[in-house]
Amino acid sequence: MSHFETDSIRIQSRTNEREHSSPIFLTSSFTFDSAEEARAMFADEIQGNIYSRYANPNSSDLIEKVCAAEGTQDGIATASGMAAMFGSLASLLQQGDHVLASRSLFGSTHQLLTRVFPKWGISSTYGDIFDYENWDKLVQPNTKMLFIETPSNPGLEIIDLEWAGKFAEAHNLILVVDNCFASPYLQQPAKWGAHIVTHSATKYIDGQGRVLGGLILGKKELIKEVQFFTRHTGPSISPFNAWILSKSMETLAVRMDRHCENALKVATYFEGNPELEAVKYPFLKSHPQHHLAVKQMKAGGGIITLTLKGGADRAKRFIDQLQMISVTANLGDSRSIITHPASTTHSKLSSEERAKVGIADGLIRLSVGLEHVDDIIKDVEQAISKSK
Ligand SMILES: *Cc1c(COP(=O)(O)O)cnc(C)c1O
Repeated sequence: MSHFETDSIRIQSRTNEREHSSPIFLTSSFTFDSAEEARAMFADEIQGNIYSRYANPNSSDLIEKVCAAEGTQDGIATASGMAAMFGSLASLLQQGDHVLASRSLFGSTHQLLTRVFPKWGISSTYGDIFDYENWDKLVQPNTKMLFIETPSNPGLEIIDLEWAGKFAEAHNLILVVDNCFASPYLQQPAKWGAHIVTHSATKYIDGQGRVLGGLILGKKELIKEVQFFTRHTGPSISPFNAWILSKSMETLAVRMDRHCENALKVATYFEGNPELEAVKYPFLKSHPQHHLAVKQMKAGGGIITLTLKGGADRAKRFIDQLQMISVTANLGDSRSIITHPASTTHSKLSSEERAKVGIADGLIRLSVGLEHVDDIIKDVEQAISKSK
């Protein structure tokens, strides 16, 4: 098997019960046939399930599917996306190390780098994607990792993955890519040289707003280090959530196709609307990094941003006029979702920091769902008009 769609459906572990769909392995531990087998498993001489904090058939199914999709060798599933972000950083960095990161990052990842890791003597510097020439100057003797997110949340900035792969190689850095916005279906950073790929599986991989989950994927030798860390610190995913996410992988391709088709239609429809300062979507020709988006992504993804004229007040009035679209903090759901990042997900950043990552006060993030596209457009249009 090798096609994304086939692997995402057909990879699954089997018991002797001849089940067709995977069962849920709600068990905290697994039995050993003998004292000798227990010893050998703990010594890593033979492979097998020991304890669900380490691994479980449901998390193994999920990891195997997403590894097949990403073209990575091995991985770990975690209880949330942030557990994956934290685990990948904390396991591979030491006191005194420095991280170079793209400025436009998910809010909590930004908090990790600026508030959590400095407690352990790990520092970071942000680089701007608009001046790649300057990144060489940002590398310090103790820089160990390049951490990027593309497309970024919510600015939809696209970082050149080919550039990132080459830059990391030239400076001997571990390249970590948060691939949450694109999903494994649209973009595979490992192809461009990423050593570690992280996901919030809560978003498109679940796709129906039910469970939290995360993934850390990559080269075997690095994943071994991450595995040591996660085994002993315990951010394991529950078997039930891993089962949900593994089932969700079966429909990821068809869902993403429709998310992208709907998002492109919505973005195209509203581009040029006189009530909007800007409409941003990676597969619109007007997107500043459109050429990179088409180079490294299969389609533009399910997220668009609309910047309303009239700033934060207008954005809030707009949100309060929506009739169908949900107002909630999630994204990548079958239901369309609106978020006002400046007052919610990115409110911890100063307005100066927000401006640097392209989050205007009037910017709205629209996660375009799988409802009929005409109904999504209709709701946005009436809310624009009533919020004047
Ligand atoms: C949501 C998100 C995360 C965090 O994931 P959780 O599952 O909410 O912990 C990390 N990165 C990006 C880009 C996200 O959108």
